[in-house]
Amino acid sequence: MNPPCRLAPETISRQAGGMNDAPRFGTRFAGSMGSMTFDGTAWSDSSVVPTASFEMHPASHVFHYGSACFEGLKAHRSPDGDVGIFRLDRHMERLAGSATRVCLPVPSIEVLEGLVMDTVKAVIEEVPEPAGSLYLRPTLIGTDPDIGAAGSPSGSARLFVLASPVGDYFPGGLRPLRIGVETQRPRTTPQFGSVKAGANYVMALGVTMEYRRRFDVAQVLFVPDGRINETGASNVVLLAPGRIVTPPLDGSFLPGVTRDSVLTLASDRGFEVEERTVTLDELREWIPGGEIALTGTAAVLTPVGTLVIDGEDHIVGDGDVGPVTAELRAALVAVQTGTGPDPHEWRRTV
Ligand SMILES: *Cc1c(COP(=O)(O)O)cnc(C)c1O
Repeated sequence: MNPPCRLAPETISRQAGGMNDAPRFGTRFAGSMGSMTFDGTAWSDSSVVPTASFEMHPASHVFHYGSACFEGLKAHRSPDGDVGIFRLDRHMERLAGSATRVCLPVPSIEVLEGLVMDTVKAVIEEVPEPAGSLYLRPTLIGTDPDIGAAGSPSGSARLFVLASPVGDYFPGGLRPLRIGVETQRPRTTPQFGSVKAGANYVMALGVTMEYRRRFDVAQVLFVPDGRINETGASNVVLLAPGRIVTPPLDGSFLPGVTRDSVLTLASDRGFEVEERTVTLDELREWIPGGEIALTGTAAVLTPVGTLVIDGEDHIVGDGDVGPVTAELRAALVAVQTGTGPDPHEWRRTV
């Protein structure tokens, strides 16, 4: 019997795609990163520094009281060779919102955008060709060395923008995922649902590891109170020809930029877009004939092939990549990589 949050080694290699030689997503970093600090009064100038370890006091607020939030966005190379950041403004607005919720200081949206732009400029040679991209991870942490500050925010803070060249997320082609459905326990607390914070990830982790061990799933879809929420790291959409259904932004889950982009592209194509409560019963009815997909920056739009509900496998549609999923995924990738029109001006060229 493994301890609750450990998997047998053979399971880990299977789930991490240990078959191919490319570095695993998130483990390779560009030579430079963006950096800024807040000393309690003012933000430093933004700078780009070598990607390296930095010193922190062991009493730092983030280590004890969890004052941290982050973003995840991508820069893509176009066939012309230029590099564009996808929906930079939306991501920086969300970072500012998350910072407010974890009581951390945050620079203006304009400064945040400038820091990310400067970071990408500094490492532009390291942006891979599609289907690879440069994954960007702005991270904000509370740095006051004060373990007495349990009930007060960190006055000082550090902001850094890690850049990670990433390959094709699905090197062997798009593979439908196997997803567990948790019908009792919630992913996180209601007041933190829409905050992009590591705290939400550790809260979901115990449940996710239990499902991985028991059912060999990639992720868990949380459906507390009989209503679909999201998985530990991505939003969920139900798809059918000319139709897309997804839960409404009620603060209980992360307002994904990919979710918004897919809904907008679907609407542009004349789809009926329904943002409304989706019950577990409706999910069950959708499974045999429909398509289900997850949205998120890392995996774009990823088909769900199997849902495990109450320990039983349910094959979604024919278990393969559905045509609606493939169509919307291609449409989104075309905007991101500058190979299709960009009517909403989502792509910010560096
Ligand atoms: C980041 C994140 C998503 C996806 O958001 P995108 O903006 O589409 O990348 C979904 N759920 C959670 C919990 C997240 O942290």
